[in-house]
Amino acid sequence: LDQVSGNFVRSVKNCIFSVSDPTPLRGPLMLGAVSKEVIEGLLDLDIAFSQSEDFLQYFSGGRLFPGSIPLTHRYGGHQFGYWAGQLGDGRAHLLGEYTSRSGERWELQLKGSGRTPYSRSGDGRAVLRSSVREFLCSEAMHFLGVPTSRAASLIVSEEPVWRDQFYNGTVKKERGAVVLRLAKSWFRIGSLEVLAKAGEQDLLRKLLDFVIEEQFPSVDSNDPDKYLIFFSQVVSETANLIAQWMSVGFAHGVCNTDNFSLLSVTIDYGPFGFMESYNPEFVPNSSDDEGRYSIGSQANVGLFNLEKLLESLTPVLTSKQTQGAHQAAWALQDLASHELYADWVKMYRQRLKRYVQAETETRSINPRYVLRTWMAESAIRKAERNDYSEVALLQQTLSQPYLTQAAAESAGYAARPPGWSVGLKVSCSS
Ligand code: AMP
Ligand code: MG
Ligand code: MG
Repeated sequence: LDQVSGNFVRSVKNCIFSVSDPTPLRGPLMLGAVSKEVIEGLLDLDIAFSQSEDFLQYFSGGRLFPGSIPLTHRYGGHQFGYWAGQLGDGRAHLLGEYTSRSGERWELQLKGSGRTPYSRSGDGRAVLRSSVREFLCSEAMHFLGVPTSRAASLIVSEEPVWRDQFYNGTVKKERGAVVLRLAKSWFRIGSLEVLAKAGEQDLLRKLLDFVIEEQFPSVDSNDPDKYLIFFSQVVSETANLIAQWMSVGFAHGVCNTDNFSLLSVTIDYGPFGFMESYNPEFVPNSSDDEGRYSIGSQANVGLFNLEKLLESLTPVLTSKQTQGAHQAAWALQDLASHELYADWVKMYRQRLKRYVQAETETRSINPRYVLRTWMAESAIRKAERNDYSEVALLQQTLSQPYLTQAAAESAGYAARPPGWSVGLKVSCSS
């Protein structure tokens, strides 16, 4: 723990977290969206609480729970293929963890809650439009059955936040918002990378042991191969996650190692997108000029990220273990030459045929509604005028993505995109 007080920006050594308080938003505050499922089901709160001023304060960083010591996490990462050094929670605060009545443990994090030691040149804020997108998409992904962080609430303020308008090169005043996000753990590949790069081997081991102990119950902490087993689990779960992204046409947009969770859940919703029609070159992020994170590249990028994870484990692995791990990861890419591949393709083809014949089954496999860019944009335009009705409609629609719903049909959510949406773009500006 880095206990240097204050949120001033600095390069931090030998720690995993820094103590840092959220900076309250300028009021009045408004509840833009709330997830009853998360509030009642995961946090054991009464949804009526979300209508109170207390709720707005607690879940936007204005007031702390008794005993809460907000933390910001030090991590690094490879961004667009290059080592970027220290990144960290530049605009997020971990409020603490909550063990629900059903025994699940959740880490509660605010996003957009002000500057931290890791803010670099950023202002620590998140604007309304990107917060609406994160809130809606993380909940939508959950209901699509894709492993993801969850969103509990979206609180909107009058805090002025200045952002580049990528489409015309100007800077515009927008409004700040805070999303309360939940994950079983927020550790990423970059959490380990920063320690390995800094040569902080003791801390690297400590964090690994902690993550394995808390989040990988099937790994025996006395097994001399425990780090190798941990690695192979992350490899298969990450492959599984990316396969699920592909199955619903989701492109994450910024597959940097700091945005790849060690628990292989989708985290950090920025310039993501759902593909409108099949195109492996689909790139949701207009700032990704080279298409590094096109939808069709996600599997290879996942492999790149897993190689970076392995590099950061090298200090705690024997050379034989490292070799074994490389083989495990590369086996994924070598499926073409696998002895069972031809049989597998045959079985897959037969299964596809069956699904196409049984149309009802197709319907339960292909979602009718996903959060297409134009749908989010339409809801955002209203939200910017403090009309959150379409945010609510989308939230409702996307909570049953396989079920045809009258209101969603009238809104055109399963139809071709409207004319006005042609050329809509999303960028990293958020
Ligand atoms: P992202 O591309 O969203 O994963 O962010 C990469 C890094 O930039 C992370 O360390 C973020 O915390 C940081 N960051 C992004 N936006 C801001 C901001 N407005 N203020 C401070 N840090 C930021
Ligand atoms: Mg990130
Ligand atoms: Mg982000």
